[in-house]
Amino acid sequence: MSTPLEVLQRVFGYESFRAEQQAIIDTLMAGNDALVLMPTGGGKSLCYQIPALLRPGTGVVVSPLIALMQDQVDALTELGVRAAYLNSSQDWREARDVERRMLNGELDLLYVAPERLLTDRCLELLSRSRIALFAIDEAHCVSQWGHDFRPEYLGLSALHERWPEVPRIALTATATAATREEIARRLSLEDAAHFVSSFDRPNILYRIVEKNDVKRQLLNFIREEHMGDSGIVYCLSRSRVEDMAAFLSQNGIPALPYHAGMDAARRAEHQARFLREEGLVMTATIAFGMGVNKPDVRFVAHVDLPKSVEGYYQETGRAGRDGEPATAWMAYGLQDVVQQRRMIDESQGDDQFKRRSGRQLDAMLGLCETVDCRRQQLLAYFGQNIAPCGNCDTCVEPPESWDGTVAAQKLLSAIFRLWRERGQRYGAGHLIDILRGRLTPRVRENGHETLSVFGVGADLSDQAWRSVLRQLLAKGLVTVDFEGHGTLMLTDDSRAVLKGERTLMLRRETLSAGRATRMRRLSTADAHLAPDEQLRFEALRAWRAEVAREHGVPAYVIFHDATLREIARGNPQSLEELSHVHGVGVRKLEAYGEALLECVAEV
Ligand code: ADP
Ligand code: ZN
Repeated sequence: MSTPLEVLQRVFGYESFRAEQQAIIDTLMAGNDALVLMPTGGGKSLCYQIPALLRPGTGVVVSPLIALMQDQVDALTELGVRAAYLNSSQDWREARDVERRMLNGELDLLYVAPERLLTDRCLELLSRSRIALFAIDEAHCVSQWGHDFRPEYLGLSALHERWPEVPRIALTATATAATREEIARRLSLEDAAHFVSSFDRPNILYRIVEKNDVKRQLLNFIREEHMGDSGIVYCLSRSRVEDMAAFLSQNGIPALPYHAGMDAARRAEHQARFLREEGLVMTATIAFGMGVNKPDVRFVAHVDLPKSVEGYYQETGRAGRDGEPATAWMAYGLQDVVQQRRMIDESQGDDQFKRRSGRQLDAMLGLCETVDCRRQQLLAYFGQNIAPCGNCDTCVEPPESWDGTVAAQKLLSAIFRLWRERGQRYGAGHLIDILRGRLTPRVRENGHETLSVFGVGADLSDQAWRSVLRQLLAKGLVTVDFEGHGTLMLTDDSRAVLKGERTLMLRRETLSAGRATRMRRLSTADAHLAPDEQLRFEALRAWRAEVAREHGVPAYVIFHDATLREIARGNPQSLEELSHVHGVGVRKLEAYGEALLECVAEV
């Protein structure tokens, strides 16, 4: 019998295991349960695919998204693994054929949606088959507090009762300690070995910019740093998703919308195109992305503030699963803070829910306003300590901090003065007009030029004032009274600042011209090719596109960019040389080796 390492090399074409993979595989091989926390792109699938190949019987994989099973099965088939799925997209004939193969022991892996798995027919099928293991993917879906709750997942504890001797592995990329405990409890995995990998995704460059004209900013970001790349743009609302897609398309960037309000067929079509075509941008609500294992997503952009760090990390994690440089970009502004606070305030949830949402928002704001390494903050949220990373905006260009105590006092007293005139409805703009001493019609109408704070803030720009206000909101020193007219209010903590008992260090926004260039260099550094290598790479990509079209699969199912790049660099002359390239296993060497050699020879 082969060892796991041999299977890794022969079937998948990889040299060695990453971090915890070997230990996880050994656990399952010994018949024990495992709970695996690994970041997106960490390499979770191999942890159950290899034991499924080595243990007698079929590995049964529970996965929440039927739209993606096809791709997983296609990719495995390309590797010569006998895989199939059962879901509602099939007609009964196809399903019966899969069932037959299952009963005959002709499958290494079977993918099933949870609601399907728990049907009598499927349970019956499983009880007549030999099962190598159960893999429960996206296991955080069992968590009722999480962002992807799926009620069907609660039924999965039944697997353990029915098949106590079959090892189970639960996997997720979302994980605070609390979520992990909830998963273990709800899936009866109390005895499982826990494997918690580092959550760091070193190839992702994190950037958060101040929002002013977000469409323009997004367009420039894509044009300057990711032209021709696949990416995801997350928006908060459906209308914004449509709007962004139209805007990008009009400006020469192919983009498609995706949100829960679209009919299922159109959604599926857009998803399929995103997976199969290169260089497409998906503008989407968070309804899009779970389980999208497209490895070559080069950027994830947030044009609205995400609700929690956990969600943000999950979403940004969809960039660069292939380990190549990728960017997580976000634009964030004052309006985001106000809007999110309002959503929490007006939500139907109970007080506990509101408090929790408030804390999650605070953590997110902390990340946005930090003057320290973003990655350090992110990982600290998941309980991990690291040194400053050198691959985020604050590391590359540390923002200055400045003593904003006096500015804050001016702003807070302006809010206080205005607040006393109850019934007044005013936003940040009016407040800043007063501070800067502008005689607008609105100021005159209300006699606000007579306030003692009128004109005391002429020393700072509008942008600087917005930044101060935003940071005060983020720090809970200002709040929004939604029961009034959405008016800004002081909080209990404001007093200490007003009285001068507390010094406030604030982040200064910098917009230096060299920044984008520096960032661009960082985000593409590893991918650089010499001119002749670039020619070979282009030729290989063209060849791959052709093969992918013929097979009706996404290009990355044939080979990843990283593999093609390695071939372009190494310019191999024989099948033997080719076989050492990362991602070229026995099956692919056999199927494509000659064609690859021909392709590079012709350049
Ligand atoms: P996850 O499900 O954790 O997001 P995947 O299982 O999709 O991640 O793996 C991410 C990528 O890393 C895939 O392209 C996979 O083939 C690759 N990969 C996984 N393990 C290894 C390894 N040991 N060596 C090289 N590449 C690997
Ligand atoms: Zn950093």
